[in-house]
Amino acid sequence: ETYQPDPNRYDSTTYRRCGDSGLKLPPICLGCWHNFGDTTPLDRMQKLCTTAFDHGITHFDLADNYGPGPGAAERNMGIILRRCFSHHRQELVISTKAGYEMWPGPYGNLGSRKHLLSGLDQSLKRLGLDYVDIFYHHRPDPDTPLEETMGALAQAVTSGKALYLGLSNYDGPTMARAAAILTEMHVPFVINQNRYSIFDRTIEDNGLKQAVMKEKKGLITFSPLAQGLLTDRYLHGIPEDSRIRADGRFLKESALTPQRLKQIQDLNELARQRGQSLAEMALAWLLRDPAVTSVLIGASKPEQILDNLKAVQSADFSQEELGMIDRIALG
Ligand code: NDP
Repeated sequence: ETYQPDPNRYDSTTYRRCGDSGLKLPPICLGCWHNFGDTTPLDRMQKLCTTAFDHGITHFDLADNYGPGPGAAERNMGIILRRCFSHHRQELVISTKAGYEMWPGPYGNLGSRKHLLSGLDQSLKRLGLDYVDIFYHHRPDPDTPLEETMGALAQAVTSGKALYLGLSNYDGPTMARAAAILTEMHVPFVINQNRYSIFDRTIEDNGLKQAVMKEKKGLITFSPLAQGLLTDRYLHGIPEDSRIRADGRFLKESALTPQRLKQIQDLNELARQRGQSLAEMALAWLLRDPAVTSVLIGASKPEQILDNLKAVQSADFSQEELGMIDRIALG
């Protein structure tokens, strides 16, 4: 049967402006790093996407190398886009990235013009799209001149293959230099994608968060739930269907140190006192931050998306609660 999106899908979401650009994003967006490879049944991925879209989640985030194997997430998303969203392309913001190892040889990685533009062409083929909404450089490459990498991004826009540009995993000073180059080239660099959560404060220390505010850029934070650690997932052992057991390429059992578990328990207790789940609290903690445009969640089940959407209705944090979160997480 064909998918009919919920006609009320836009009723309960307040979209947030990406920096000072014209692009608006939902507070919660869905990423396809996990659960969209060739080891997940297509029907489950499709259900994740349609559940998201039915609740106003207009933005799906991909990268060339998301799988397993590399390219699989884009290929699978291509099938879902054709199956479910062929009449809704204009309602969706699809992003992809180049910059991590993707194909063998000297051009399959990092930040050269050759890598970025070849990579984007292949991504568009896998996705079955004429353009992506956001094209990211996935990580900085210190060996390629920033002018070359930014020139390649600019060409992605002028050739019509990307509407907006983004940078991922850049630090503050490098992002600011890149922004100056892109401004000079009159192309819309609108968003940064960086890891940020109660547990990972890197961008508070490397200047990125400050630079985002100063440059008036958007910030979408990835792994806001620390890959599932900032949820009730691991409170009572390691479930068989959890990321650690089912796809532990990047989240290993060794992450669950006694100290980490204690932090998770204490944060869970605080969330309970606030009348919400730990996942909701962890997302609300990010969304309250004026530097943060959106959070980029992953999900293995549609119910997780629904749980996470409740974060938008979360009560404000008192200064005392914010202090407690820092004391628990940072020791
Ligand atoms: P999260 O921190 O949101 O972790 C997602 C995982 O947490 C889920 O797969 C699920 O794990 C668990 N989870 C989610 N919601 C709940 C809930 N309500 N209750 C219990 N458990 C829950 O994000 P990801 O690490 O998946 O990253 C999100 C996206 O960010 C990626 O898909 C990608 O688009 C992007 N990203 C970008 C990177 C970059 O370099 N630019 C790097 C990494 C990610 P389980 O499987 O155990 O159910």
